[in-house]
Amino acid sequence: MDESRFIAGQAIAVGTGKVSVQRVLCANASMMTGPGTNTYVVGERDVAVVDPGPDMPVHTDAIMQALAGRPLKWIFVTHTHGDHSPGTSALQALTGASVIGMAPSPDALYQDAGFSPDRLFKDGERIVCDGFTIQLIHTPGHVSNHVCFLLEEDGLLFTGDHILQGTTPVILPPDGDMGDYLASLEHLRGLPLRALAPGHGEIMQDPAQVISTLVRHRMRREQKIITALQDLGPATLDTLVLHAYDDVAGHLLPWAKKTLLAHLIKLQRDHRASTDGDATDVATLWAPHRD
Ligand SMILES: [Zn+2]
Repeated sequence: MDESRFIAGQAIAVGTGKVSVQRVLCANASMMTGPGTNTYVVGERDVAVVDPGPDMPVHTDAIMQALAGRPLKWIFVTHTHGDHSPGTSALQALTGASVIGMAPSPDALYQDAGFSPDRLFKDGERIVCDGFTIQLIHTPGHVSNHVCFLLEEDGLLFTGDHILQGTTPVILPPDGDMGDYLASLEHLRGLPLRALAPGHGEIMQDPAQVISTLVRHRMRREQKIITALQDLGPATLDTLVLHAYDDVAGHLLPWAKKTLLAHLIKLQRDHRASTDGDATDVATLWAPHRD
């Protein structure tokens, strides 16, 4: 591995096509953020930024350095978790850029409630910038207000937390939804993608294969959950997670439980699992669906 690609604060050319794209890695590495949040700077004259990251002055400074005096016209925000959007206000105050993204829904967890985009947009809308075009693609699943951004000239998709490199995203019910997540992946399959630029990790070069692998992973997990339900009979999330996620390290199980719940809610909707209780209550018993 080339370690220089993981130095926070440096702008590194992504080099996947005709349009200039730089990645600025934020120094917020952690269990949940991997090597840190990727901020992308797109274009050569009037530029755009994707995901300003957390509200960390040192990271905002690094983005300003990467701009190197060029006007920032657009700030695109994939979603409003604390590692992606809170740096927006400081960057907008310094540059006057327009902010595009979706405000969080009120029942969503871990959200940047202060995020307020400058205007609403439609799924599929295209924004013509200076020398490049960005298409806005609503991709609910990880959370309901997740958006991916397609740099049309290069088929490069900024995926936020919808598709990550080296790990799979947590789905956070009730705002996050497994059915929506899979539908959003299917939606991406229909787009002319050539590379994926994730919110965490490295650029991925084979989008079709990455998406297929992710869908297969989810389907395998769903099957493991169905098997666990059949083996255990009525069981709580705490019990089910130990069986359905027996390949996951113990310290990650609290997060695995959230995605497990997202799978169970989908299975309930598909008439393959059932519960008499409140799906969000940890004491609720889940069982295989019976007609
Ligand atoms: Zn996130």
